[in-house]
Amino acid sequence: MLKDGYGRAVDYLRVSVTQRCNFRCQYCMPDKPFSWLPEENLLSFEDMFLFIRAAIDEGITKIRITGGEPLLRADLDKFIYMIHSYKNDIDLSLTTNGYLLPKTAKRLKEAGLKRLNVSLDSLKPKTAQKIAQKDILKDVLKGIDKALEAGLKVKINMVPLKGINDDEIVDILDFCKERGIEVRFIEYMENKVAKEQISGLFGKEILSKVKEKYIITKIGREGSSPSFSYLTNDGYKFGLIDPHKHDFCESCNRIRLSAEGFLIPCLYFDEALSIKDAVQKGDIEAAVSILKDVLRNKPEKNRWQEDEGGEISSRAFYETGG
Ligand code: SAM
Ligand code: SF4
Repeated sequence: MLKDGYGRAVDYLRVSVTQRCNFRCQYCMPDKPFSWLPEENLLSFEDMFLFIRAAIDEGITKIRITGGEPLLRADLDKFIYMIHSYKNDIDLSLTTNGYLLPKTAKRLKEAGLKRLNVSLDSLKPKTAQKIAQKDILKDVLKGIDKALEAGLKVKINMVPLKGINDDEIVDILDFCKERGIEVRFIEYMENKVAKEQISGLFGKEILSKVKEKYIITKIGREGSSPSFSYLTNDGYKFGLIDPHKHDFCESCNRIRLSAEGFLIPCLYFDEALSIKDAVQKGDIEAAVSILKDVLRNKPEKNRWQEDEGGEISSRAFYETGG
């Protein structure tokens, strides 16, 4: 089992496969023109897989593919198939904006993907367009339907923003409840790349919106998940990810691999080490040793402490994969 320097078991690897995106969400990468393509020095899927295989052998049991928008990367289904074929009981999932799911959901399922999270911030075409800066809603909703049709387990992520979509918290919850899928409300995490004018809702503000319609009961965290579960009075379970709370890092079990091969110990921690040379030389022992170094240096708490007067993070979500 892998452990970090604070004795926390680490069994969860998030893999970003690209920084590119076909949306320009206000909280993520609002100011880049749509024509902008980051100069990525991508690790090939074969090289990424060499590392992933070693990480699984060392004790990683849960892998999430993310980005940027992961469905923009060609041959993603083949990459999923590589991981699935190596260990078919690995908890393998994907986070996507859903736009390309109508064309890809079936192939992803056939490749071995079991579940995915789709970001859905609004059910109103104009609001969705305002957030993503593109007319997206029809395709995203179709993508969710296609994923369900393909037999994938779907969860929805929503980031409530003041004055933009905070009037839709209950609508999104009801939309998910009707389809038997779980929603997770995510507190907006401030960062220097996001639009300055936006502000998010704290967890308790999100819950009070839900309480306008439902009586809710706290269930608790599921294992090391950052999501806290709640139950409505009619038996629907939903989640809240509230990183502004102080205990958020206590049970952190994750590490991140960037699209360029950097192992990142924490979402808001800048010291990452590259496994690129090691995997390109086929030196798996060296890659595992870098993994262990990164784990030793994983910080106890993230450095994103804006609410305590610290520096706001300059780390963009599209770089780390969220
Ligand atoms: N493009 C995919 C998507 O949007 O689902 C995957 C990558 S995205 C960076 C992963 C998750 O991070 C999404 O659920 C998105 O809503 C969330 N996210 C991005 N920026 C955020 C921010 N500033 N605060 C909170 N969540 C954020
Ligand atoms: Fe793209 Fe996802 Fe970032 Fe939105 S949150 S800009 S969809 S990477």
